[in-house]
Amino acid sequence: MAEQHNSDLDAIVNGGARTPGGEQTTRLNGAPVSSENHSVTQGQQGSVDLRDVHLLEKLAHFNRERVPERVVHAKGSGAFGELHITEDVSRYTCADLFQPGRVTPMLARFSTVAGEQGSPDGWRDVRGFALKFYTQEGNYDLVGNNTPVFFIRDGIKFPDFIHSQKRLPDTGLRDANMQWDFWTRTPESAHQVAYLMGDRGIPTNFRHMDGFGSHTYQWVNEDGERFWVKYHFKTQQGWEFWTDEEAEAAVGANADTSREDLFNAIERGDYPRWDVKVQIMPLDEAEDYRWNPFDLTKVWSQKDYPLIDVGYFELNRNPKNFFAQIEQASFEPSNLVRGIGFSPDKMLIARSFAYADAARYRVGANAHHLPVNRPLNEVNTYAKDGAMAYEFNDPSDPVYSPNAYAKGAGTDDDKETSGSGVTVGVAGDLGLWDETHGTDFTRGAYVQHPEDDDFAQPGMLYREVLDDAARERMAGNIARAMAGVSEQVEQQVYEYWGKVDPHLSQRVKELFTQS
Ligand code: NDP
Repeated sequence: MAEQHNSDLDAIVNGGARTPGGEQTTRLNGAPVSSENHSVTQGQQGSVDLRDVHLLEKLAHFNRERVPERVVHAKGSGAFGELHITEDVSRYTCADLFQPGRVTPMLARFSTVAGEQGSPDGWRDVRGFALKFYTQEGNYDLVGNNTPVFFIRDGIKFPDFIHSQKRLPDTGLRDANMQWDFWTRTPESAHQVAYLMGDRGIPTNFRHMDGFGSHTYQWVNEDGERFWVKYHFKTQQGWEFWTDEEAEAAVGANADTSREDLFNAIERGDYPRWDVKVQIMPLDEAEDYRWNPFDLTKVWSQKDYPLIDVGYFELNRNPKNFFAQIEQASFEPSNLVRGIGFSPDKMLIARSFAYADAARYRVGANAHHLPVNRPLNEVNTYAKDGAMAYEFNDPSDPVYSPNAYAKGAGTDDDKETSGSGVTVGVAGDLGLWDETHGTDFTRGAYVQHPEDDDFAQPGMLYREVLDDAARERMAGNIARAMAGVSEQVEQQVYEYWGKVDPHLSQRVKELFTQS
C-alpha cells in the first residue's frame, strides 16, 4: 500500500517534468535554436529582423510567465508528503483517507495572508495552512490557518476585510488606520486579533506552528450517522515564535525565512510532522452549545470536546518546480469527498465558491488538468473544452446527459436526495445540517401539481390549436429532423411523441420509414 502511494506521489511530483536538456536548446516547436545570445539583424549593424522567430517567441513567452497572484495568501511555500492514519475514527467518518492504516499522498501550502508575493515571511500576520489530500475517492482540500478562528464569520465581509489589510488606493501603502478601523468596527474580529497580537502572531517559520481546519465540517459514517468536526494539526516540531524586534531583525536580513526553512529542512531529511487530531461534536449538541459551533470566530473548548487522535502527516518532498506545483496549485474547500460535508458556517460556504473560482481565474478553467491538481482516481465528467484543455473523454463517450448509452449519471439513475440530507453528505456532495436548523436541502425535481404532466400541454397544442394541415406539417418536420438517428433513439422518438399524441407518433413513424 505504502509503495503504491509513493508511486502516486512520484507521478504528482514528477508530472510534467522534462528530462534534462542537452546542450542544444530548442524552440517551443522542438526545432533547434542556433543562438541564445545574438538576435538576427539586417546586416551586422542593422535593425533586428522580424523573422527571428526565436527572439519573438522568447520575449512573448517571457511576458506571459506570471499568472495573477492570489489576492490573499499570495506569498506561500509548499511541499508534498503523506497523511498516515494511526487510529480508528471510522465510527465518525467513512472518508477513505481517514480509515485505519491508510496512507494518502498530500500537498501542503503555507502562506502569509496580506502580503504580496515578494513580501517578508516574518510579518505579523495569520499563516495559511492549506492541505490537499489525493485520496482514492477524489481530492479532499482543507483550507485552514495557523489559528483556530478567523476575523469575520460571514463571507460577505471578506473583500472589505482584505481591502482594509492591504494597501491604500492613492499611496499604495499599507495603513494601520484602516486595519484598526475595520477591526474595531467588527467586534467578531477580537478573538482572532487577540491571537494575532499574542506570542503566536509571528511564528518563526511554517514548521513550528500548528494548523487548524478552523471551520466546522461534517463527518458522516458508513451508516449515515453525522457528526460535527473540527481539525487540529499540532506541530511535532513545537511552537516557536518571534517578538516584534526579533522578526524585524530577521526580515531585514531575509524576506524568505519561512520558505527557506521549509525547503532546507526537507532537503536535509529533517521532515516536519504534524499530529492530526479532531474535535467531534454529536449532531444534536450543536443547538444548545454555549458558543455557536458554526461561528468561525469561536472555538469549541477543548475541555468540552477534547482532542481525539487520528494520525499524523509528514512533508518529505520539495516541489520540483515552484511555479508548476505551488503557484498553480489550487485548494478548493468545495473539493469534498464521500464521508465529509459542509456545516452551516457562512464563511465556509462562501469559501467553497470563492477558492475554486480563484483557481478558474488565476490558472484557468482547466486548472484541475494539471498534475498537481488532478485527482488520482479517474475523472468521468461532461465538462469539456476551455482554455488549455489537456484531458478529454474517449470519443465513444457522450458529451451530454441524459443519453441513450447508459454512461455517466443520467437522470434515469439519479437518486433524488431530500429530507435528512444524509445521502447527499455521504456522497461528498453537500453535507447538510437540516435537523439542527430546520431546513431541508433537496437535490430533486420540481414539486408536481395535479396537472403537471410534461406531455399534456404539447398534446393540447397538437390537438386543440393546430388544424389538420399544420399537424401534418409538424409530423413531416419531425420526421425530416430525425435523419441520422440510431435505431434506439428512433424508438425513443416514437415513444416520446406517443405520449404527446398517439396519432402524431404514428404519423411520424410512417413518414420517417417512408423517407
Ligand atoms: P484549553 O486550555 O483546553 O486550550 C488552550 C489552547 O490555547 C490550547 O490549544 C493551546 O495550544 C492554546 N494556546 C496556548 N498558548 C497560546 C497562545 N499564546 N496563543 C494562542 N493559543 C495558545 O482551553 P479552551 O479549549 O477552553 O480554549 C480557551 C482559549 O484558548 C480559547 O478561547 C482560544 O482563544 C484558545 N485556543 C483554543 C483552541 C481550541 O480549539 N479550543 C485552540 C487554540 C487556542 P497548545 O496546546 O499548542 O499550547
